[in-house]
Amino acid sequence: MIPTIEFIQHKFNEFNRLFFASQLPPLPIRLSSSKAFLGKLSFSKRTSLFGTQEYYNFKIHINTRVDLPQEEIEDTLIHEMIHYYIHLNRIEDTSTHGVVFKRMMNQINQQGKRHISISHKPTLTEQQQLRGEAKPHIFALVDMADSKSYIKVVPRIESRIIGTHNNLLRTFRPTRIRWFFAVSNYLNAFPSSTAMRLYLYDDNELRHILEDAIHIICDGKTLKINHTSSMHKNDEK
Ligand SMILES: [Zn+2]
Repeated sequence: MIPTIEFIQHKFNEFNRLFFASQLPPLPIRLSSSKAFLGKLSFSKRTSLFGTQEYYNFKIHINTRVDLPQEEIEDTLIHEMIHYYIHLNRIEDTSTHGVVFKRMMNQINQQGKRHISISHKPTLTEQQQLRGEAKPHIFALVDMADSKSYIKVVPRIESRIIGTHNNLLRTFRPTRIRWFFAVSNYLNAFPSSTAMRLYLYDDNELRHILEDAIHIICDGKTLKINHTSSMHKNDEK
């Protein structure tokens, strides 16, 4: 099901009664089409006069990009409600999903026959759904002098690619820019633009993508396909 705000609010009240002795004040619910999470608790932080951390401006975000079973949406909501409870009461935990979180989670799982987990991460199938179909992309891997490497996805238009190449050189003075063409849904998550904004990427994901990617050489004026790197494809037949 794809939840509505009314549904989430209704469930919030129900779980608040069942598992939190109705101690959680109502908070804004937001629906999100993010590709990164199923549920999220957001809040602002400030340090009080006495040096303690205070949290306020709480919101719960629930993803509506993926069609999930109702039970899983409910478990996601309860997971965020546990975070809410812990922050609201300024309980110190050993980590984000530390001893306190796990104790509350296990208790609710037992009491309510739920299957809440500590993982914020969508499962592989959910990730697949969040990201959508594999689409063709042109992207650059930009290696910097400090040995960090970033990714830049650009529109598949020759003049834009060449323009971006030259802009990247001028703006970031990288040690290397490598251009590739690949069909992938991991790359859907990066904005496709010529803006001078670079993004970190997951090494493992990229290694996978590069196995089937076509290497493109840009000399600042033209684009050429690097045939040596795509030769094994032709050899397959
Ligand atoms: Zn969490």
